[in-house]
Amino acid sequence: MIKGRMYVNGEWTGDSLDTIDVLNPATGEQVGTIPNGGKEEARAAIEAAHQAFPEWAALTALERANYLMKWHDLILENKDEIAEILTKEMGKPLAEAKGEIVYSASFISWFAEEGKRVYGRTVPASSPNKRIHVQKQPVGVVASITPWNFPAGMITRKMAPALAAGCTFVAKPAELTPLTAIKLVELCEEAGFPKGVVNLVMGDAKAIGEEMTSNENVRKLTFTGSTAVGKLLMKQSAERMLNVSLELGGHAPMIICDDADLDKAVDGVIASKFRNAGQTCVCGNRIFVQEAIVDAFLAKLKEKTQTLKVGNGLEEGVHIGPLIEKKGYDKVKKHVEDAVEKGAKVIIGGEGAEEGNAYFYQPTILTNISDDMLVMNEETFGPVAPIQTFKTDEEVIAKANNTRYGLAAYFFTENYSRGMKLSEKLEYGIVGWNDGVPAVAQAPFGGMKESGLGREGGQEGMEAFLETKFLSIGL
Ligand code: NAP
Repeated sequence: MIKGRMYVNGEWTGDSLDTIDVLNPATGEQVGTIPNGGKEEARAAIEAAHQAFPEWAALTALERANYLMKWHDLILENKDEIAEILTKEMGKPLAEAKGEIVYSASFISWFAEEGKRVYGRTVPASSPNKRIHVQKQPVGVVASITPWNFPAGMITRKMAPALAAGCTFVAKPAELTPLTAIKLVELCEEAGFPKGVVNLVMGDAKAIGEEMTSNENVRKLTFTGSTAVGKLLMKQSAERMLNVSLELGGHAPMIICDDADLDKAVDGVIASKFRNAGQTCVCGNRIFVQEAIVDAFLAKLKEKTQTLKVGNGLEEGVHIGPLIEKKGYDKVKKHVEDAVEKGAKVIIGGEGAEEGNAYFYQPTILTNISDDMLVMNEETFGPVAPIQTFKTDEEVIAKANNTRYGLAAYFFTENYSRGMKLSEKLEYGIVGWNDGVPAVAQAPFGGMKESGLGREGGQEGMEAFLETKFLSIGL
């Protein structure tokens, strides 16, 4: 049992508060508790970050990179322990959890280096006795709110660039998965970050969010989660014109063309669709297969899907863990039931299993899919692959883009010319061409339309935590 605490101004706090239980979604058992913090705790953390900001911002990028690399190394040294905590509170298989820890550390090493390359520029002036400089400066105190599906990766993807840029940080992890965040922050402490640079609060999300958006010392809000909460936070932020980055929901199309390498396509669909039990913002939600190859594709997909084992992620050989909670399980069930009622055919799966407070769902393939089904209109967030056929590229592009989301899209073709045309027409921030798992630290990740604002990772991920200042000098 882990007794979690908040971390404010270099102190572990929150013992006097009520507690919230953290449960293992694979067993329903309690794995820890956290303090139920709120406005007051968020305010104290923001104040600490505000006080720590000037000194942290004044360090050289090299000095900040040294702290970050210590943190990075400690995370990798403790990878197995953190992964086990992550699996226990989130449910994803241990191998995936270890992968997430390595992925989350990769943002730290990449941004530690990128921080050394925050260049300004000089610009030719309009008169001989003037000079123009463009400078980059850290935005200031950053407040972050993150979801449960990547308890480590979603935090480091924000915190690493923010700290590298010279910002100080207040993190609020999801209530369902705070223990991984606590471990990451313990390692920040061990890495020796000065007090107040990194702070961690948890508890009442609404109250904490209100403080983060209204407190004048917060200069940037970075959020990953649902589109509904993203919109709410954006409205709250509008009052102060708070700088926001929003990584929101998705409804990814996967297009399998008749000239695709079918093995690549099947592997891509399995990786995108069933990773994390289908609980990722970028997971393929709508699979479009060109008519001529649908039988061959389905046969291969079914064969591979049959080998996926569902169970407790701590057990050897499990590929698909539980869904995070009943609400998510009910949504997946509803989506499959709705599809079947409207005429879908279940090729494999289609069944859930409730074991006490644990909720599992079989990897599911559905065919005979019509556009009015829920699976074609909402993020399912579960291991359900609805397959529709298409005839022409024009038709499939129109279908793929027919959504208010624009996070990730995938297509599989060996034809370069066709692939370039498809990639240019897809209204998505991330496009995987023969690639079901494109996210990496050095590339900009984020969505168009209602999937969000801004990018994380890559040069853009650093830019999100910088202000641009134009300095005009008269000589
Ligand atoms: P969520 O319900 O929006 O929660 C995300 C975070 O927001 C949690 O920390 C939550 O706190 C907090 N929150 C909830 N209500 C709030 C409020 N009124 N004010 C301030 N904070 C509030 O989303 P989720 O169900 O955890 O995550 C799944 C969603 O995230 C999916 O839509 C997925 O597509 C999206 N996602 C997007 C990306 C991306 O990069 N685009 C990545 C991963 C996930 P509590 O947990 O304490 O309630």
